[in-house]
Amino acid sequence: MNDARNWDVVVAGAGPGGSSAARESARRGLRCLLLDAKKFPRVKPCAGGISPRARGVLRRLGLWDKVAAAAYEIRGIRLGAPSGRETVLVGAGSAVVFDRPRLDALLAAEAVAAGATFEDGRRVLGVVTEGGRVVGVRTDAGDVRARWVVAADGANTRFSTDPRPRHVLHSCMAWFEKFPFRPHVLEMFFDAELSPHYAWLFPESDDRVNVGLCVEADRHAGTPIREVFRRFLERHYATELAAARPLGEWRGHPMVVTDVVEHHAPAGVLLVGEACRLVNPATGEGISYAIESGLHAAGFVADALEYGGDPLAVAKRYERSLRWKLEPGLRGGELFRRWGVGLIDPLVRLGQSAWFRRWAKQAPAT
Ligand SMILES: Cc1cc2nc3c(=O)[nH]c(=O)nc-3n(C[C@H](O)[C@H](O)[C@H](O)COP(=O)(O)OP(=O)(O)OC[C@H]3O[C@@H](n4cnc5c(N)ncnc54)[C@H](O)[C@@H]3O)c2cc1C
Repeated sequence: MNDARNWDVVVAGAGPGGSSAARESARRGLRCLLLDAKKFPRVKPCAGGISPRARGVLRRLGLWDKVAAAAYEIRGIRLGAPSGRETVLVGAGSAVVFDRPRLDALLAAEAVAAGATFEDGRRVLGVVTEGGRVVGVRTDAGDVRARWVVAADGANTRFSTDPRPRHVLHSCMAWFEKFPFRPHVLEMFFDAELSPHYAWLFPESDDRVNVGLCVEADRHAGTPIREVFRRFLERHYATELAAARPLGEWRGHPMVVTDVVEHHAPAGVLLVGEACRLVNPATGEGISYAIESGLHAAGFVADALEYGGDPLAVAKRYERSLRWKLEPGLRGGELFRRWGVGLIDPLVRLGQSAWFRRWAKQAPAT
């Protein structure tokens, strides 16, 4: 059955990008419908690392206190180099880990509190077009008409018309409880087998961690990513795993990354977050970019509804503003991906040296 309501904007996908776009749209007085294919709370394969960049964005939105109150604070890092050397550095808290089902439920609830309507368990199947312009979406429960569509449906987007080959990282991850780990310390291993990417352990609470890895899609052609992950677990965590209890299945998900921001979508659609490939090519960080692009998209939609304008010209201006705002971080990631891994070993050696540890007030190296 078709939706008789007339929306200003329909947002497809309620990850951080979609919920932020919906919240901002509603705050600007737009009638906004937020749709997600899955019933919430839903599992999202993601380490849940809230970087300093994401913290800044959440702070600007006035959401940081809520996130920080429910998240797990990180005060240090155990860093493993390709040579096998490693060090542990601790300092003031600068990041947190927040498990994605709860983070995404919180952001969706914020969108609803701002006035958006959220319908989960409703899959978007495609666009509805009239006169060469998108005027809504088709869903598994009928068509929805809207003056603008924000596409926030993630890595496997149905909306992007980007002709560039996709740069994909493969990932595999798992969750455990009773896994021995240093409290408030995250772990990153730049193993030679994963280079230039890495594997991680992110604590989500005093008793729960997620462990995973990401690699270039063609890095282990012919070897299933689960096998690469199994080998990694065996190399680094054989002892800890004997004590740990797995929580659920191992999960894999593509990360679609880029260092060059381009926007390719039908007229009347703005892409945000990973649907627009806004994921750091070195670290896989995407939450902050999704939120920032969601806010931008909502601003451009609100302005277009108020002042008018050709939808493709609006999309071009949106692309320029994303490029200006987000591309420096993504470019920095690409530089690190190409040349940065060579810095990890010297950094770890520095971290191990007695004078540095005294100067930086670290515990003696073990
Ligand atoms: C293993 C892994 C670990 C990661 N770790 C981190 C990390 O620690 N920190 C970080 O910043 N980033 C991390 N990322 C990247 C981050 O998860 C993504 O970049 C981020 O979630 C993108 O947000 P988004 O809102 O664009 O899309 P998503 O979060 O992917 O949300 C898309 C939403 O759209 C919905 N959807 C999809 N198709 C449809 C449809 N047809 N109709 C309706 N709804 C639909 C989905 O159910 C989903 O809820 C990681 C990614 C992976 C794969």
